[in-house]
Amino acid sequence: MNNCKLKNYARVVIKKGLNLQKNQTLVISSPIECADFARLVAQTAYDEGARQVVVRWNDELLSKITYKSAPDEIFDEFPDWQRVYFEHYDNIDAAYLSIAASDPELFADVDPGRISRSNKAAYTVLKEHSERTMSNQNRWCVISVPTVAWAKKVFPDLAEDQAVERLWDAILKAVRADTQDPVAEWSLHIDRLKTNVEKLNSYQFKAMQIKNSLGTDLEIELPNNHLWLGGSEESTKGIDFIANMPTEEVFTAPKRNGVNGKVVASMPLNYNGNLIDDFTMTFKDGKVVDFTANTGYEVLKQLIETDEGAAYLGELALVPHDSPISNMNILFYNTLFDENASCHLALGKAYPVCIKDSEDMTAEELKEAGINNSLVHVDFMFGTKDLEIIGITEAGDRVAVMKEGNFVID
Ligand code: ZN
Ligand code: ZN
Repeated sequence: MNNCKLKNYARVVIKKGLNLQKNQTLVISSPIECADFARLVAQTAYDEGARQVVVRWNDELLSKITYKSAPDEIFDEFPDWQRVYFEHYDNIDAAYLSIAASDPELFADVDPGRISRSNKAAYTVLKEHSERTMSNQNRWCVISVPTVAWAKKVFPDLAEDQAVERLWDAILKAVRADTQDPVAEWSLHIDRLKTNVEKLNSYQFKAMQIKNSLGTDLEIELPNNHLWLGGSEESTKGIDFIANMPTEEVFTAPKRNGVNGKVVASMPLNYNGNLIDDFTMTFKDGKVVDFTANTGYEVLKQLIETDEGAAYLGELALVPHDSPISNMNILFYNTLFDENASCHLALGKAYPVCIKDSEDMTAEELKEAGINNSLVHVDFMFGTKDLEIIGITEAGDRVAVMKEGNFVID
């Protein structure tokens, strides 16, 4: 792989993604297969003045052995030292980088109940850290790096090394690491995303009507004083960062009890090493009241039943059909990429920052304002090239937001 592009990638992640400050600590979560790139990021971070870089290695093959062979009771346990670990790094204001690169089908023959219990145990213990992250008290960034298993799923007809090479090409292009000056390119890109954010915010739509020929027919109310966000975000300490690289979305929070109708997924969803495909959900007053899935029904059921909030929506994100990742025409089986090629929703927790003055609100006030809460936040895609979205204003006017999958809002 072209060394210069890899260095560009590491640098843009440190400078623009995390906006790592002098003397700041960086915590990286990385699959062991991505060690080379994790080390390059660590080197780059020190070159840019990091105080310390610590890495949490993960190994999903080992996780699979555990899921298949460990005694059943351990899946409801999660050690408290992990909470203490994050508390320590939260307290010293560390930045967090996650490398997401899972094999989309690795856990296909694992009991989904064990995975969901194990996730629930982890999310419960790490709740405070996750809340700090989702309310931008921590600066964080999610990126991806190819692994052989993932690349072979995306390009099944290619030999392993060619598949990895193709996936690297797609990733480096998507994060603009193939340009002369990726840091400058990202600044321009963020400005472009902000123009749609500003337009959407100025309308303060009461609701959005979403339709396409796949069968999606949904009305989503938006909370009073909701905010659309996109591109970069600002941490509570006033420092910009980019939570996902790539990112092509603008997003807000649906009103917790204000979602009605049916959504038909337009892409498969890789949820923790399991594929959910060909699926639909029907909502009444915000809640999933019916769902179907031709693949992964049991996994989807476990997800929706994680807790009360997992059956409600926490994100509405708009991505034009004509956009760089979508135009690659690659199904990535990785949410970070697929969500940035398609309009999507998320089941579960909403980002509190999607409403004005959320930092002064209690959990109860956020719920009252329509911001959903859950241990999970899982994106799934519904965008298509014939998607139509109409915004309904407070006065009842209908404004075209998207037509044939692309923004038409003025
Ligand atoms: Zn999103
Ligand atoms: Zn999301």
